[in-house]
Amino acid sequence: MATYETIIRNADVLTPEGSREIDVALLDGKIAALLPRGAGAAGETIDATGQHLLPGAIDIHFHVRAPAYPERGTVESETRAAAAGGITTLFEMPISKPCCNTAERVAMRQRHFSEHAFINFAIFGAPGDLQPASIAAMADAGAIAFKMFTTPPPEGRDDEFLGLSLPDEADQMRALKAVAASGLPLVVHAESAQLLALGEQEIRGLDLADTETHLLARPAICEAVAVAKLLTLNIEAQAKLHIAHVTSALTVDILRRFKGSSDFTAETCPHYLFRTHHDVKRAGVFGKINPPVRSLADQDALWSAIADGTITHVTTDHAAFSHAEKLAGAHNIVDAPPGSPGSEILVPAMLDAVAHGRLSLAHASALLSTNAASRFSLPGTGRIAVGAAADLILVDLGAVTEISADNLLSFARDVAHLYYGARFTGRVTQTWVRGRQVYDGNITGQPGWGRYAVPTRTLPSPGRTPRA
Ligand SMILES: [Zn+2]
Repeated sequence: MATYETIIRNADVLTPEGSREIDVALLDGKIAALLPRGAGAAGETIDATGQHLLPGAIDIHFHVRAPAYPERGTVESETRAAAAGGITTLFEMPISKPCCNTAERVAMRQRHFSEHAFINFAIFGAPGDLQPASIAAMADAGAIAFKMFTTPPPEGRDDEFLGLSLPDEADQMRALKAVAASGLPLVVHAESAQLLALGEQEIRGLDLADTETHLLARPAICEAVAVAKLLTLNIEAQAKLHIAHVTSALTVDILRRFKGSSDFTAETCPHYLFRTHHDVKRAGVFGKINPPVRSLADQDALWSAIADGTITHVTTDHAAFSHAEKLAGAHNIVDAPPGSPGSEILVPAMLDAVAHGRLSLAHASALLSTNAASRFSLPGTGRIAVGAAADLILVDLGAVTEISADNLLSFARDVAHLYYGARFTGRVTQTWVRGRQVYDGNITGQPGWGRYAVPTRTLPSPGRTPRA
């Protein structure tokens, strides 16, 4: 007489109260009970001796781009890869063709992902026409948050960035205020358009095939100035502001100086934490990412920002391109397509940091999951507690994850040069989404199993009305 569908036994279970020696029972997609060892009965029992059970990663920065660009991966391919990487919910960014900048497009992408996703997904909107009514309509369609770039659209890609690229500071202010009224966060890719233009002038005559030239074209000051401006605007706008992929010591310094001035958070990514520009030089055009991967001193500053809580999220910024597309940009790194795969890197890399004593397992789990659930208002997931969604991963902290083109599932397996040969201590062994195992070393889930993750919205209270 089984009471539960599944019981995961003998794992070291990471709960909000800390690590516990308990068994975890799953029923109807949820964590139904936390049981003493050996208690309860289930249709299926998993023996997880020697392993740790954690909330699945909630990756708040992901680019599938579907239904556009199937040659760069599809919802099926990239959510399978994410499941293998220990990600149970991903937030899809609005870059698509056309840009996801209206309620209709949010709904269209929701339907597309619903049919194909192996894991849960949320959909970002772009601020679009900046009208409060269209932003409210996207929020009503279930958008998780909004995304904005402070940079102009890359050449020839205007339709992908329409209503998303807002290099003008008046537009940035409008977006902050309009999104603030929706109650949802605004995530910003922050680099100064004007200083980028200056950078492009300063690299004239330099070798465009050299990755170091890209670094010179987008120095840290570009990022830091854009962040300082946004944080200043937000003192007035009072949006829930989130700075995407922080890369530099200078920006960390700016974030610290503005602490407490408004409601803001910040993220970084594994490539900024585990790689430097020397690694990018080896990877060539395949290591081209915007903003660029910088020095060891910047990397150290990012780890210290994680240690003191200045940075509270680590995300993939997973962006697959085809090998041919990347290679076509090799003669001009500055204009080459930016992006690197992360779906199967993120969790093993952070476990590796735990293995090397950089941070505790609980802190890693907060950066990967719990903080995302709270910042983006998904109260039903991101923690192991009775009633929470059974979005879970089992990890072996002693096993090694080796990265090679042969063992990645993402379409980006042919462009993962930044990580080829990496050996992370820590391995995702099993993944559950809504109580069903989707990965056990092989993909065991089904397309269409993932659910649309819709935030719980709290509209700003009258006391928080932005200053006129
Ligand atoms: Zn991105």
